[in-house]
Amino acid sequence: MSRVYNFSAGPAVLPEEVLREAAEEMLDYRGTGMSVMEMSHRSKDFQNMIDEAEADLRELMNIPDNYEVLFLQGGASQQFAMIPMNLMKNGTADYIVTGQWAKKAAQEAEKYGKVNIIASSADKTFSYIPDVSDLPVSEDADYVYICENNTIYGTKYKELPDTKGKILVADVSSCFLSEPHDVEKYGVIYGGVQKNIGPAGTVIVIIRKDLITDQVLPGTPTMLKYKTHADAGSLYNTPPAYGIYICGKVFKWLKKRGGLTAMKEHNEKKAKILYDYLDNSKMFQGTVVKKDRSLMNVPFIIGDKELEAKFVKEAEAAGLVSLKGHRTVGGMRASIYNAMPIEGVEALTAFMKKFEEENL
Ligand SMILES: *Cc1c(COP(=O)(O)O)cnc(C)c1O
Repeated sequence: MSRVYNFSAGPAVLPEEVLREAAEEMLDYRGTGMSVMEMSHRSKDFQNMIDEAEADLRELMNIPDNYEVLFLQGGASQQFAMIPMNLMKNGTADYIVTGQWAKKAAQEAEKYGKVNIIASSADKTFSYIPDVSDLPVSEDADYVYICENNTIYGTKYKELPDTKGKILVADVSSCFLSEPHDVEKYGVIYGGVQKNIGPAGTVIVIIRKDLITDQVLPGTPTMLKYKTHADAGSLYNTPPAYGIYICGKVFKWLKKRGGLTAMKEHNEKKAKILYDYLDNSKMFQGTVVKKDRSLMNVPFIIGDKELEAKFVKEAEAAGLVSLKGHRTVGGMRASIYNAMPIEGVEALTAFMKKFEEENL
């Protein structure tokens, strides 16, 4: 068996320890004689598993009691509709567009009400985060929406926007649990887990309890009401059981490694290795304004398509895979989520250095 260093933006690298544990429990989960995939979600074993996962997440993120934790399906993209359906009481919302995912969320919300784009970085290919300290927040806005870490472009909010008292809703798919989040500053925090936590198919939504009501837009399907899932402890219907199981293991792994403050330090150390190299390289260049750089997704270019293709191909042969950039940005992108070991980043920079010497 040989494992590669996987720089995929998602689905992405998971801790090897977690995968080994899951493998060990595959045929017989803790004496039940069955795998978690075969287990009733109404069983005591599964109930214990989801309860423990929620408790560990609450501890990791320091989630206050007035917030609900939901384990849902439908990907992060389904939240693009669920959020307006459940929160647009006045029929208006403000969106900050810092990339494709925020743009898609805004476009989806337009189906349900009035959407105001109150800031955007589209003018420079989303290579920066706009100034959000004094935004023209709409008086009747039901919420202000952001995508906190822009997976495709490699930018991250270092300060949350001043929403002038409005509820903040954030898509944190690609920075979930990469550093501490101050939950109280948000009305809703959500993310697909396949970037930094677990397997695709599970979405975690952390939502302030007073925002969970029966007053949703007319025609909202039962499955798309937060209240349906909150009332049923995320077990209204069959949940993404195996995904929740793996997420639970990743939460334990994070706790063992010192929690989110320790993760942040570790992630800063990893990202610094790569950014320092990019800043000194004569061949490779980062594409993002320095102060807005993401710790998780690092896009970079050579500026020569042929050399870039050669780089991606040779890197793959060297066991450094999924480095091709998003089709809208080109170049390369290294996603260095929690589970990417520092050795992976060191191996990448060493390979880049060698490639630079050989090809410049
Ligand atoms: C990947 C991603 C999404 C889309 O996630 P799906 O689970 O595929 O719907 C949305 N937002 C961000 C920030 C992402 O990185």
